[in-house]
Amino acid sequence: MQTPQKIAIVGSGLVGTLLAIYLKKQGHTVHVYDRSPDIRTVEFSGRSINLVMSNRGWKTLEDIGLENEIRAIGIPVDKRAIHLQDGALKYQNYGKEGEAIFSLSRGVLNRRMIDLAEQAGVSFYFDQKIWDITLSDATLHIGETERGVWTAIKYDKVFGADGAFSRIRHRMQRQSMFDYSQEFMKIGYKELHIPANEDGSHKIDKNSLHIWPRGNFMLMGLSNLDGTFTCTLFMPFEGKDSFETLKDEASLVAFFAKYFPDTKEVIPDLVIDFFKNPTSYLAIMKCFPWTFEDKVALIGDACHAIVPFYGQGMNAGFEDITVLNQMIEKFGDDWDAIFSEYQKSRKPNADAVAALSYRNFLEMSSKTADENFLLQKKIEKWFSDNHPDKWMPLYSRVTFSLQPYAEALAIGDFQNSIMDQVMKMPNIEEKWNSKEVENKIMLLLENEK
Ligand SMILES: Cc1cc2nc3c(=O)[nH]c(=O)nc-3n(C[C@H](O)[C@H](O)[C@H](O)COP(=O)(O)OP(=O)(O)OC[C@H]3O[C@@H](n4cnc5c(N)ncnc54)[C@H](O)[C@@H]3O)c2cc1C
Repeated sequence: MQTPQKIAIVGSGLVGTLLAIYLKKQGHTVHVYDRSPDIRTVEFSGRSINLVMSNRGWKTLEDIGLENEIRAIGIPVDKRAIHLQDGALKYQNYGKEGEAIFSLSRGVLNRRMIDLAEQAGVSFYFDQKIWDITLSDATLHIGETERGVWTAIKYDKVFGADGAFSRIRHRMQRQSMFDYSQEFMKIGYKELHIPANEDGSHKIDKNSLHIWPRGNFMLMGLSNLDGTFTCTLFMPFEGKDSFETLKDEASLVAFFAKYFPDTKEVIPDLVIDFFKNPTSYLAIMKCFPWTFEDKVALIGDACHAIVPFYGQGMNAGFEDITVLNQMIEKFGDDWDAIFSEYQKSRKPNADAVAALSYRNFLEMSSKTADENFLLQKKIEKWFSDNHPDKWMPLYSRVTFSLQPYAEALAIGDFQNSIMDQVMKMPNIEEKWNSKEVENKIMLLLENEK
């Protein structure tokens, strides 16, 4: 346990709330502020929005004994179901037998975590907008409006868990030597919906992440506990086959009939959903440093907002908490060392997961429909099954291991260079699981040592 401090966390999202539980367990007074109403009092619109949790997220929950409780409200997803344009359906396992990511409802998860944080003794202040912070003495400035009257509340430490458009980071950006970059993608997304069958069952396989890969755009579907699926259409804002070309019912229906014919039966409210739901933006935000002296630290999307194509944003934010906690365990009351080592350890990994996530759009939208790519993945899986000590596929490193993202990225690039050579072997389609291919991979691995 540390010497008790008075700590504020700005943001009651998934990362801020879980961090609150950790800090409370260290014996601190913890206040969490959010500009939004208490999510437990907000009625869900009836549509679930979900996300996937993988090993890094589970590890952070496991360390404080929450893993089993949260697993119980998730659906294991062990493979991709790839819907080709000609109607064919292919499956690609994510990992080894028994390995799965979990589909969870964001709302249910967030509500549950706030309940658990309150039970642990954390105080929440909802409908409280933080407009500014005085970094030097960790004082928050709270008020109804940006130009209205603000109240100043001083803390010993403040954590900015206030998401991609963080106000806390905004103030830090005004410091000299603070690096910041923001890049909006040319691709946006829109949520659609597959309802449950009358008996509450799922219309398509609930244990698959469904992808309709179509080159520079794709549709994705992830199951919810109530029998529904949340689908996300990712596509460019402008140009051929883009959001700007789907302006009316006729163009939308024709587009789906051409590219996603097998969704006609399962997305009955396509037109209503499409024109009612917003088209959302995706952005990548990077910054450094993440901390100010021993007073203020950023965590989660506030310091590393990434694109969602690896399903790692929340997982990476949870891993920030694991690392921060390791530093707390190591350095005790030396918060200078805790903050400094936390950001030093996390920054390269946050940059790596940003790169991995960006690349994964290409993999999901184009390559999963490519025979060569599927063969390459099959060879990697076969070799890895036979030599688990020599080869772990990149997806497994990122999703099912706790290896730092930066290492996973570097090894993944090395493995790709080997697979480039293997795929050039004559008649690789026929001899993909032969001794010759096995020896070739062994040799290439050996040469690198
Ligand atoms: C389409 C999509 C799909 C995704 N899928 C996955 C997935 O499958 N797996 C995964 O791991 N990640 C996924 N992510 C990423 C994940 O959603 C984020 O990484 C995660 O929600 C970040 O959590 P956070 O707590 O850091 O920030 P947020 O969830 O953004 O929470 C920030 C909180 O701060 C509050 N706040 C903001 N400003 C203020 C202020 N000035 N004053 C007071 N309160 C404030 C907000 O109201 C909010 O409650 C996905 C993201 C998107 C967009």
